[in-house]
Amino acid sequence: ANASPYSDLPGDIAVSFEFFPPKTEKMDSQLWEAIGDLAPLVPSFVSVTYGAGGSTRERTHATVSRIVRETNLKPAAHLTCVAASKGEIGEIADQYWDAGVRHIVALRGDPPPADGGRFVPHPDGYASAAELVAGLKARHDFEISVAAYPEVHPEAASAAHDLDNLKRKLDAGASRAITQFFYSTDAYFRFLDKALAAGIDAPILPGIMPVTNFAAIRRMSGNTEIPPALETLFEGLEDRPGPRALVAAVAAADLCRRLYDGGVRNFHFYTLNRAEQTYAVCQLLGVRPTENA
Ligand code: FAD
Repeated sequence: ANASPYSDLPGDIAVSFEFFPPKTEKMDSQLWEAIGDLAPLVPSFVSVTYGAGGSTRERTHATVSRIVRETNLKPAAHLTCVAASKGEIGEIADQYWDAGVRHIVALRGDPPPADGGRFVPHPDGYASAAELVAGLKARHDFEISVAAYPEVHPEAASAAHDLDNLKRKLDAGASRAITQFFYSTDAYFRFLDKALAAGIDAPILPGIMPVTNFAAIRRMSGNTEIPPALETLFEGLEDRPGPRALVAAVAAADLCRRLYDGGVRNFHFYTLNRAEQTYAVCQLLGVRPTENA
């Protein structure tokens, strides 16, 4: 019989989900609907992003605190170095710690557009994510995740420098990396090999973002390779958002399946605050809801 390529997955996968803090009431209901739909899949953690330029400081905090109060999920709060002194970041860290949050995703952050795309550290602030990790760890015993770039951060002097930087972040106290989204499994596996060779043994979770809009993907990340076969899959769907979303879910599940075949068991999903695609991909990967989650 022609068994589905997914039917042999034994249910040994752990997932985590990223959300962003909502701006409006409508977006707020959308987020909480997505959280409600995805919670039964019992993610290892759920993370909440921090807006560019530190613009969502209060909203990130409010969202994370509500997750602590109203769900059994383990939240991770993203925190960046942008436009804040070490003292201000310390206060934010204290607030999270006091609210019962134990996991921070520590990032340098992207510069506000007004700075011409160049990161300028706050005069009393942290200049890099590695410094932020060290500062947070000195303050509280947080579990810390950091960002990794299989296709190299656009500002890195070289791939080797970028890997050194990842190692610095882990040496400073981070225990896990989460990657920028990618669509080339080769790029991810080559990166894992290089990381291992550089002595990095912390988990490097693949960041999975179902592709729905290539133009947006190209804008968001200059270095991301889009395999031609993936692009072909979406030919003619430009004005058909429904089928495009379905194809995107299947393509993401295929990417995950190939990662699974290469030994990956932890997947981090960029949900964009919508449950459907992420839920479908999880379903295809054999991740099933748990009663009373
Ligand atoms: P860093 O690790 O500090 O590195 C930035 C660049 O500087 C790299 O090229 C690095 O190689 C280089 N570098 C660092 N230190 C040195 C040094 N000493 N000498 C020379 N070069 C150095 N952005 C947000 O604003 N909010 C979010 O919530 C957010 N969440 C994210 C989640 C994930 C999983 C990922 C992958 C990215 C996220 N980002 C977020 C984007 C991130 O802030 C940007 O990619 C930012 O440009 C770099 O942040 P970083 O933490 O990787 O920085």
